[in-house]
Amino acid sequence: MPIAQGLQAVDAVLSSPNWDINRLLMAARDRAQLLGTGSGLPSGYAFGLNNCGTYYGVTNRGTSQELYLWCLSLLLAEYTAGLLARKAAEGHCQQHRKAPDFNPCPDMAKEHMRMLGAFKEALRALIDEIEQLEQQTPLPQPPAAVPTP
Ligand SMILES: [Zn+2]
Repeated sequence: MPIAQGLQAVDAVLSSPNWDINRLLMAARDRAQLLGTGSGLPSGYAFGLNNCGTYYGVTNRGTSQELYLWCLSLLLAEYTAGLLARKAAEGHCQQHRKAPDFNPCPDMAKEHMRMLGAFKEALRALIDEIEQLEQQTPLPQPPAAVPTP
């Protein structure tokens, strides 16, 4: 369950005193390691081509920035979704959920669910844009073959 994992990983950083963004980057690196090693690639590299000498992964030499940002963005999105769902479930409210009873507020529960839905739509729009990039990004073509006499 990625949302539960992202919520836990980011919450552990943000809820610690004097939190350090480097811990968030370490969580992103740990997530990137889960991509594993791609078929036929050197250990730790999830993507790349041996013929091109170009690799992306988590190795002793570091973590590719593309994978860092990939995993960091997923962790933050998972955290956001999990936080909004948690606040909805708890009926989090500054006005009505107070000690000693901490009664959940049904109105803010609905509002947090509305926020979660709006966040989902923002992610869906991002997915749509990524799909457009996949379809419309022009790729360089291999050089034309030399005609045989
Ligand atoms: Zn309320």
